[in-house]
Amino acid sequence: MKILLYASALIIVGSCATLSHKEKIQAIKKRIVIAHPTKVKAYANTITASELKKHLLKFSSDDYQGRKVGTNGQKLAVNYLKNYYISENIASPFGGSNYFQNIPKSYLGEKYDDSENVISYIEGSEKPNEVIIISAHHDHEGIHENGEIYNGADDNGSGTVALLEMAQAFKKAKLDGNGPKRSILFLHLTAEEVGLQGSRFYTQNPAFPLKNTVANLNIDMVGRVDKSHKYNPNYLYIIGADRLSTELHYISEVVNETFFNIKLDYKYNEENDRNRYYYRSDHYNFAKHNIPVIFYFNGEHNDYHQTTDTEDKINYPLLEKRTRLIFATAWQLANQKKRIIVDKS
Ligand SMILES: [Zn+2]
Repeated sequence: MKILLYASALIIVGSCATLSHKEKIQAIKKRIVIAHPTKVKAYANTITASELKKHLLKFSSDDYQGRKVGTNGQKLAVNYLKNYYISENIASPFGGSNYFQNIPKSYLGEKYDDSENVISYIEGSEKPNEVIIISAHHDHEGIHENGEIYNGADDNGSGTVALLEMAQAFKKAKLDGNGPKRSILFLHLTAEEVGLQGSRFYTQNPAFPLKNTVANLNIDMVGRVDKSHKYNPNYLYIIGADRLSTELHYISEVVNETFFNIKLDYKYNEENDRNRYYYRSDHYNFAKHNIPVIFYFNGEHNDYHQTTDTEDKINYPLLEKRTRLIFATAWQLANQKKRIIVDKS
């Protein structure tokens, strides 16, 4: 596979020695065929700011007490997710109403009680054994010693509700006979805030074999605007897309250019970036296993890991647009003819 991609790149390069770097990239991008562009746009449009807000109002409310791993609040929060999937008739890969992947206290460490990942999926129509995983962690920091609740609306209520809306859009497509060719797994991870443990556990106990996992699109904070984009908020940081699969990087760009025109910011994707975000959220546990990932992130802000990360500060039109981009990227990965190629390690 690796050789094939290299050979085709050579043809492009060889066909005209005077092609600039930019022109070469354009040629590679032109060969990406967007799967059913009219349909993907129609289903992406079912993801709306108002529904995202409805979910986030509840999910980041004081009712869930900051969703600290293993606490009563976190249990209530995962039940909200489970009940949603049941009400939308979106299946669990474990069958029945068993949406929880339980992680024992003995795994999480002494400080925490048992916790759980929440998993739902849409079965692929042609290649059900190949799976795209869209993930977001649901846990957060609990209650401050001064009694204030860490609502975690951006971190990571925003990613959580994005998953709910994407699942609904894929389900709607399936009911209309336009379901994805490959399966899509919606993975709500626990224990991210305490060492990426939910994703580590999942990759050690996967619902589908890791070798059949095509890609992981991981979302952690996508509802806000950071300082450096205060005056141009139509952006999203993209991290990791080109680390394992050149193809994934260009698919991400072409989908965005075709439908959304968000400014994809690669600042934090630099190998020597001192923030090391590539290693700091759940996608890394997939990348470790050579599974191509994209990490979607809005950057840090003054309310990051503060009790002031509240719902009223979420930019919903932006959250809607970003969620639609991730949905359309997943659609492409699930529906394009060939599974994406891993050409790096
Ligand atoms: Zn987070």
